[in-house]
Amino acid sequence: MAQCAYCKAETQLYFANVPVCIQCADARSPEQTRASLFQNVADATMRAEAASEAFQKVVKEIPSGMPHADGAQRIKNVSRQLSKARDEMMEAHRLLDDHIKRGDDN
Ligand SMILES: [Zn+2]
Repeated sequence: MAQCAYCKAETQLYFANVPVCIQCADARSPEQTRASLFQNVADATMRAEAASEAFQKVVKEIPSGMPHADGAQRIKNVSRQLSKARDEMMEAHRLLDDHIKRGDDN
């Protein structure tokens, strides 16, 4: 995860390629923060879809029956990437939801 350019908190949010945490982003521009969070969700969703496709492809390529060691390792690798991409997608959704809920309280 990147570090906020202003306060060094960990963040996955970017403004024009500069890592910014939600607190600092909100202080600067709530509208842009929300747009960035939407973009974050879209990007993470695309990465999760790509990881899912890569996973399907590897599983299809490995012949049925007992996969040999190399095949098992490849499945392990793509499955780890897929679960990481899905975690990031969930986190992106959570950040956006939090932001929308906080905005509604104002
Ligand atoms: Zn910050």
